Amino acid sequence: MTVMPLKFRSTTARELIFCDDAGGYFRSDEEFLERYINGVLTPTDQTFLRTNGHAFSNAGDLAYNAFTYRWAKRLHAPADLNYAILVPTLRCNLACSYCQVSRVNENARGHDWDDETLKSVLAWLDSLKTDTIKIEFQGGEPLLRLDLLKAVRTYARDRFKKAEFVVCTNLQEVTDEAWEFLASEDTSISTSLDPTIELHERHRTCSGKSTSQFLENLRHAIGAFPDRVSALPTFDIDALPAPRDVIETYSAFGFRSIYLRPVNHQGFARKRFRTQDISFVWNDYVRRFVMALIEYNARADVPLEEFYFSHCLRRVLRGGHDGHVDLRNPNIVGRSYLVIDHDGAFYPTDEARMVTRLGQIDLRMGDIKSGLDRSIVDVLNAEATNLFDPDCVHCPYQAFCGVDLIDDLSRYGRIDLPRHRTDFCQRHTAIFDLVFELIYSDDPNVRASIALWSGLNSVDPELAKVHR
Ligand code: SF4
Repeated sequence: MTVMPLKFRSTTARELIFCDDAGGYFRSDEEFLERYINGVLTPTDQTFLRTNGHAFSNAGDLAYNAFTYRWAKRLHAPADLNYAILVPTLRCNLACSYCQVSRVNENARGHDWDDETLKSVLAWLDSLKTDTIKIEFQGGEPLLRLDLLKAVRTYARDRFKKAEFVVCTNLQEVTDEAWEFLASEDTSISTSLDPTIELHERHRTCSGKSTSQFLENLRHAIGAFPDRVSALPTFDIDALPAPRDVIETYSAFGFRSIYLRPVNHQGFARKRFRTQDISFVWNDYVRRFVMALIEYNARADVPLEEFYFSHCLRRVLRGGHDGHVDLRNPNIVGRSYLVIDHDGAFYPTDEARMVTRLGQIDLRMGDIKSGLDRSIVDVLNAEATNLFDPDCVHCPYQAFCGVDLIDDLSRYGRIDLPRHRTDFCQRHTAIFDLVFELIYSDDPNVRASIALWSGLNSVDPELAKVHR
């Protein structure tokens, strides 16, 4: 019998989590660890490992094939390009302190697509191989150029079998014509709603009148287009609100999901907010927040999730959860989605757009007129996996985790820092520690929320295997 390599990590004093390379896991103790590393497994150990897919008899037998299938399912292969983030203008009618992209004033000139750029964008859309497309309009405030949004949407509806659109808007000033545009079934709204209304006013709207206007627009959008409105908060690490306040802000609008995100390090906001060396404080906050959500869900009619924790939980339970672009392995950029900026430049990601604008490193991939140039990002892509990282290969969370080279470049100016010293690794180690702690919890409230966030009716004992 051959046992797949097992990696392990302490959970409590004498308990450890063991994981194999395909994401199979179980909890055991130091006695088992001693037997495993000394090659003196008992018949009971061997039966457990074989029955649970951590061992096989011959290469090619059912257990071996099942293992390789699960291993392959954990890897992300980029699809044909089918997702475009379009920035038709950099102008904005707000000046939020968190702003990442060096927005310009509403009346500034020369920061919108011109006619030629629009024509080139439509021709580029036409050149794509895909039949389905998702187009996200970002800015600046994209509703300031409703004419461009209309032109793209009309063209895409005609060109693709299926086209979906997301408008990332601050919902500050929405004209009748814009409401009419947003009313289409194929169009969703993504907006910003800070952790509390007071923080939203302090960092974004800056006056009671503007705050009321935004809240009125948000309520109108949610009422008119239920299930097509999402909101994202941004957190200042030095002014973290009580988790309960955030949960109440979001539940008051009927949202079911809250995505905890600290101020982004890649963008201009890092000049005003602390964004480096924050993982200790942030990890503690995420833990307190998830525990507060569990307590809230135990009594709530409409339970909520924290998006990223739930996403990590689902990645632990099963391979193939690769929908979120920030956590994939390999994390190949510039393939299945691209950003086209206000000046027609291509970027692999929105973060790459920010890093380039800061002058830190040029991650542009050519432009809409001269064509795509993958030479720089493909150098990065050669390293965009954790499979051969000298630290990740020893980490039990490797199969669930990923890489974010643009974050590494932006924080450290290099991509080869020992992994455990990166913000990415420190955040993910903490979140996967919490995932396993809660999967193995006996608390009925924890189990109810874990089941809900995993999309299950209850936590099956098979999801929390223990071997002694
Ligand atoms: S980045 Fe850190 S948590 Fe993720 S697999 Fe590598 S060592 Fe583990």
